[in-house]
Amino acid sequence: MHAQTYATTTLPWALRTDHLVGSMIDSSTSLLAAQKHDIVRFAMGSPAAEAVPHAAMAEIAGRVLTADAFDYGATEGDPALIEQLVAFCDAFGEPTSPDRLVITSGGMQGLDLACTLFVDPGDLVIVESPTYTNGTATVLSYGGDILEAPMDSDGLIVEALPELVARAGRLPTMIYTIPTFQNPSGTTMSLPRRLALLELAREWGAVVLDDDPYGHLRFQGDPVPSLRALAPDDPLVFSVRTFSKLIAPGLRVGWVDADPAARRLIINAKQAMDTCTNVPNQRIVAEFLRQGLLTEHLASLADIYLPRKIAMQTSLERHLGGRVRTTDPEGGFFLWVTLVGDDAAVDTRRLFEIALAHGVAFIPGPALSANGLFGDAMRLCFASSTPERIDVGVQRLAGALDAARAE
Ligand code: PMP
Repeated sequence: MHAQTYATTTLPWALRTDHLVGSMIDSSTSLLAAQKHDIVRFAMGSPAAEAVPHAAMAEIAGRVLTADAFDYGATEGDPALIEQLVAFCDAFGEPTSPDRLVITSGGMQGLDLACTLFVDPGDLVIVESPTYTNGTATVLSYGGDILEAPMDSDGLIVEALPELVARAGRLPTMIYTIPTFQNPSGTTMSLPRRLALLELAREWGAVVLDDDPYGHLRFQGDPVPSLRALAPDDPLVFSVRTFSKLIAPGLRVGWVDADPAARRLIINAKQAMDTCTNVPNQRIVAEFLRQGLLTEHLASLADIYLPRKIAMQTSLERHLGGRVRTTDPEGGFFLWVTLVGDDAAVDTRRLFEIALAHGVAFIPGPALSANGLFGDAMRLCFASSTPERIDVGVQRLAGALDAARAE
């Protein structure tokens, strides 16, 4: 029991409530829903509305949702979905087997399960800087200590880790990485760095939390093998995947691919959380895969997302040329935009407030770092808006930046 006073009420709070930091990313959904004026949404990492196959899903739902789909399901996942998933992963070059898979309630539950298994209070967890802070929020909720490690255009600078760890004075128990089209930077870890990371993890006995929701969403360049594909049998690699960006986030269906010994504990942990993942949605996804629709759907996404990335880069050049620097991802959803020159003095948390009034939303850099770094940067999601809307949004962002400078 813990005596903290929270939200003006004194209750017998558990110690861990000190570490429930919340997520600005998730909170932006309700914040934006409450706004009455028109807002261009670069904040959430949502698929394009046009890229959600809702008509096909509704048709499938009408056929497959028989009475048994509304009963409790197996904790490890619906057998029909597991069967389809094995074939899907195999075709993507990530061969797996049913004794490695557990269907989860989105990728977030996969991250939570990894921390349940491997993070004790005070354990050191290396994360990329910047990173997806819902992941670091999960680590913090288990009492883990975060060590932010720098990135460059080839992803996590693996060569920098030994010195960081030496300075920390203890070995990490986990390294959390989003290797492909990283959230938020959009960068992809190079093959040599992936191999070096696996080597280092083995040397340290650290778990590699391989969070890869965007790997299927490549619209340019050559594929790089995933960490799972590079180390298919390595028990230290714990892979978290999700259909949120591939089909739709509201489904809340994802999966973990882990060593069979870990899987038994994952099932126990999930039984203490939510019994099983939503069965109707698993059945719908299974049928979507069985008909080969997911493969077709993924092939069509490059035609939506590449023009949007280019549109955002072009609009940034048009309205903010010389005032920002951006990354150039070959897939995924995000551009990482850094203010340069005199504009770098503007704090993007303040810019966010002004931008909201100007009718555009994004995620400020400090919300993507456990230590609140990157006050001069922001994450822009190009996936959710049409090229025309992107241009409107970037123009509004430029107006907001002028207003921030004038304060
Ligand atoms: N990891 C990363 C890197 C993500 O970007 C997301 C979603 N934004 C998740 C995990 C969580 O996925 P889900 O929405 O399926 O829980």
